[in-house]
Amino acid sequence: MNLFAIYGNPVHHSKSPLMHNYAFQKLGVDACYTRILLEDGSSLKNDFFARKLQGANVTVPHKEAAFIACDEVRGFAKTVGVVNTLILEEGKLIGYNTDADGFMFAMQSFNAPIRSILVLGAGGTAKALVTKFLEESIDVTVINRSKKRLQAFTTLSCKTDTWDTFIPKSYDLVLNTTSAGLEDDALPAPIELLKQVCKNTRFAADAIYGKETPFLKLVKSYNLPNIDGEAMLVGQGVLANIHFTHNTFNPKEIEKHLFKALTF
Ligand code: NDP
Repeated sequence: MNLFAIYGNPVHHSKSPLMHNYAFQKLGVDACYTRILLEDGSSLKNDFFARKLQGANVTVPHKEAAFIACDEVRGFAKTVGVVNTLILEEGKLIGYNTDADGFMFAMQSFNAPIRSILVLGAGGTAKALVTKFLEESIDVTVINRSKKRLQAFTTLSCKTDTWDTFIPKSYDLVLNTTSAGLEDDALPAPIELLKQVCKNTRFAADAIYGKETPFLKLVKSYNLPNIDGEAMLVGQGVLANIHFTHNTFNPKEIEKHLFKALTF
């Protein structure tokens, strides 16, 4: 039996063991996926080999440590310097990042090309996603409550605004990457601004999962087709599972099992 795990601190809340174990069972893969509380990110590589893992996911706060631990880093992980998926390949530790590609995968459910995105928020999640969107030649505008974090996005050469300077245009997608609504009832921007955006946008997405945020409630009141953070979580899980099972299964089939697992 092959052993997989998720490393993090904290890690007790992670849904990854539930999702991957259910998918392994349904796909007939002889594997087991557990969670490992890791305090010191620099011990990640030794721990991975000591436990004889075949692969792993890595969550907060060890994604940068995972990048450093790898013998080889592939794809988008090289661009962002952050690894969330590890695979053992011929005795070497190989690193990938499936977070942003997972979101691209989740967006396929809109069944429409997404060419312009308004991103609300300018934190770590926004940075990884925006980097991916720009790589995919998507037109990106980032707006944030405060000016400081927008600097990094100006460097990436996308349009940036604070709430005060923002003049809404039309977008294919509005994406909330702020933590507004995670533990409170806050909207990610002033309501009048968001109403203007909703009137001129085709689809909406929220990175937060596990609850219906005030932002999601608002976009639903405008009948915007939407996905929440669960779709993003499942998307990264699908791509990680493809690495774990060496491209054996159809991504849509893996997705079906991961979504089902989240209903338990
Ligand atoms: P960061 O702390 O790096 O960034 C937070 C951002 O939210 C900043 O831009 C901040 O603005 C903004 N913000 C915070 N509170 C408010 C508010 N009340 N009103 C408006 N803006 C606010 O967070 P992350 O990027 O790491 O995570 C962001 C969200 O994404 C979290 O809710 C997290 O749960 C979710 N997430 C979901 C994932 C998934 O798989 N679905 C994966 C990763 C993250 P300012 O700069 O002004 O402070």
